[in-house]
Amino acid sequence: MSERERDLAENLRAVQDEINRACDAANRAHDVTLVAVTKTYPASDIRILYDLGVRAVGENKDQEAKAKAAELVDLDLEWHFIGQLQRNKAKSVASYCSVVESLDRPQLAHALGAVGTPIDVLVQISLDAPDTQNRGGVRSDDLPELLEVIDGEHALRLRGVMGVAPLGDDPADAFRRLAEAHRRVLDGHPEATWISAGMSHDLQWAIAAGATHVRIGTALLGERRYDR
Ligand SMILES: *Cc1c(COP(=O)(O)O)cnc(C)c1O
Repeated sequence: MSERERDLAENLRAVQDEINRACDAANRAHDVTLVAVTKTYPASDIRILYDLGVRAVGENKDQEAKAKAAELVDLDLEWHFIGQLQRNKAKSVASYCSVVESLDRPQLAHALGAVGTPIDVLVQISLDAPDTQNRGGVRSDDLPELLEVIDGEHALRLRGVMGVAPLGDDPADAFRRLAEAHRRVLDGHPEATWISAGMSHDLQWAIAAGATHVRIGTALLGERRYDR
């Protein structure tokens, strides 16, 4: 076993323990799905995680993700797109992703729908305070229109919501707002049961607020470096 294999096995066990403890604290079954966020890390790390049992991976850049997906076609992986997505990348992303978690505007829904490949989507909900800069996600006023556009695109299967807690805000509050938005989505879309919330430093609050999926990068793979 290589040193990297040992490190990733240890990190994965620690993250799974933390997820299970958070489920216990919230009186929930151990049914939270781990999405390993592998951005900036090589395909070889994803192969190691796969051998350890990980099936869902999250990436935020099309070019990088597509190259890794091509290198790992022999694995039964589920690719989640979790970053800002340009309309002109919709076709590319739909060619290897099973889930786009960051659907946040009607134009992107039209572009993804026009590709025609059936794909699961989550609506990314903005958790930023109303008077602050929006760091991604649909604002609650614009949610009904986005849902209507998704309903009209038959290739898109709405599975739920996604959110990123703003830095410096109370994560418990942020994830409560996400759960509230989720209730609005469920009303009329009873099959949209997923809540993707929680990263390395706030997963316990996300799980307390009902997260079905957590997106974990740093705690699994280490601090990201952007200069390699
Ligand atoms: C990078 C990223 C994550 C993972 O964050 P960590 O703090 O490294 O666990 C989760 N979600 C999104 C949207 C990301 O961009």
